[in-house]
Amino acid sequence: MDHLGAGALLAAWEAGLASDDGGRALLLHSLARPGADAGELLSVPLGQRDAELFAVRRALFGARLEVRAECAACGEEMEFEFDADGLSTTPTAPGEPLRVEVDEWTVEFRLPTPADIAAVAAAGEDAGGGDGGAGAALLARCTLRAERGGRPVADRPLPGHVQRRIAAVSAESDPLADVTLNVACPACGKATRAELDITSYLWAELDAWARDTLLDVHLLATAYGWSEPEILALSPLRRRYYLELCADA
Ligand SMILES: [Zn+2]
Repeated sequence: MDHLGAGALLAAWEAGLASDDGGRALLLHSLARPGADAGELLSVPLGQRDAELFAVRRALFGARLEVRAECAACGEEMEFEFDADGLSTTPTAPGEPLRVEVDEWTVEFRLPTPADIAAVAAAGEDAGGGDGGAGAALLARCTLRAERGGRPVADRPLPGHVQRRIAAVSAESDPLADVTLNVACPACGKATRAELDITSYLWAELDAWARDTLLDVHLLATAYGWSEPEILALSPLRRRYYLELCADA
């Protein structure tokens, strides 16, 4: 990932500051696929997108993530390390429709993408909020064909057990769409499920990195009169060394 230079990262960060969660996810994803347009990025299945975000994270900050969670039973604040190298790297099946057959039901569907999430969220806002139907709306968007006993079925929602089977097949085909960690609480011993949302995680890290980097630029520009591009072109090691010299002076 040679293209992940400081200038490109700062540009993505600057654009992301004025953006919402969806926009930030898109900007971060574009770091994984330089040159891809928004249409291409928005049509990548969610788990595949997140696998690519984990790869960006690994390239920028390493494979070890520090995750915080609150114990669901006693409220204890937990902090633990998670190794992203342990995540499944099986690529998501390409564009082929997925299919489940349960009892007399046959359903063909595709994996949800960021475009689907955005469309469902927008429709929910139009309908006056409330997320009760978000999962059902997402499933309806991603269902390509539903048949019962060989006859097309138009009215939704699909029965619960069919929906659960679809969810299971989706999770199998796009495993990183939902990275949930099971952690045991050190205080009470109960297990808590913690969701790891790589988009917001990586954004928070990029934000902290960008602010530190701009501070470095400020200090070095003040001390030496160098321009921002000149300072960003220094290796991290040299930058650190000059900063130490400034601090000693
Ligand atoms: Zn606990």
